Amino acid sequence: MSRRRRIYEGKAKILFEGPEPGTVVQYFKDDATAFNNQKHDVITGKGVLNNRISEYLMLKLAEIGIPTHFMKRLNMREQLVREVDIIPLEVVVRNVAAGSLVKRLGLEHGQALPRSIVEFYYKKDELGDPLVSEDHITALGWATAQELDELITYAVRVNDFLTGLFMGVGLKLIDFKLEFGRFWEEEDMRILLADEISPDNCRLWDLKTNEILDKDRFRQDMGGVAEAYQEVAQRLGILPEISNGQMTEGESAEEDKTPTEETQDKA
Ligand code: UDP
Repeated sequence: MSRRRRIYEGKAKILFEGPEPGTVVQYFKDDATAFNNQKHDVITGKGVLNNRISEYLMLKLAEIGIPTHFMKRLNMREQLVREVDIIPLEVVVRNVAAGSLVKRLGLEHGQALPRSIVEFYYKKDELGDPLVSEDHITALGWATAQELDELITYAVRVNDFLTGLFMGVGLKLIDFKLEFGRFWEEEDMRILLADEISPDNCRLWDLKTNEILDKDRFRQDMGGVAEAYQEVAQRLGILPEISNGQMTEGESAEEDKTPTEETQDKA
């Protein structure tokens, strides 16, 4: 078992140094947080499900020409990704009014938007990730105007593709959040889709019943969080061998190990 250095620990994932320079191992935890960390719980099996769902969606997006950081899934909880410098923006795409949009603008929850809306939030926990305009972003140097154009183009393509993909399995893509990073190859810089795409950062409702199958179940104390994520995975046809986020067959117990690491963190 190799010992790895922990680069960063976030709310739902840990990043370890990868086996090759320029690579990172992304470990999916079972922790769930909401309301800027004020609410925290452990949802058994969530990390396993998100690892699988995100792998599946990133690979599908790569097939349609969206460059992503995803390289390969290593085991139940880990995937190998390219090391990127994360652009400090959350790119949110909305198709239906929900969450903070409803609160901010007084729209009706569940109201279809006349067209999809792309929003940017500045990634800064201390400030509660505030909504920012394109002018804030370019003036304060978080991304250039050209990079912003690229982010919007990718976000819209991801939305078009995922809306169709989820529709095909009876799910409505209400909204979602993307993160992007800069990837350097010698002198060349490319923007890659990074982080994860899972029910932790998408709102997904059943097409017929509007049943909530995403992290809102956790935010609103509705229960059945892991079951909802599992339902999403099953509809996507990717988890026949896992029940309730636990292994039954097809994966070895060794693969569900907790992360190994050296004790000292990067300064
Ligand atoms: N989202 C996210 N991380 C955040 C904030 C939002 O993944 O820090 C996702 C969220 O799951 C939803 C979309 O972005 O799919 C829009 O979220 P919203 O702005 O409505 O915020 P919320 O209601 O979650 O506070």
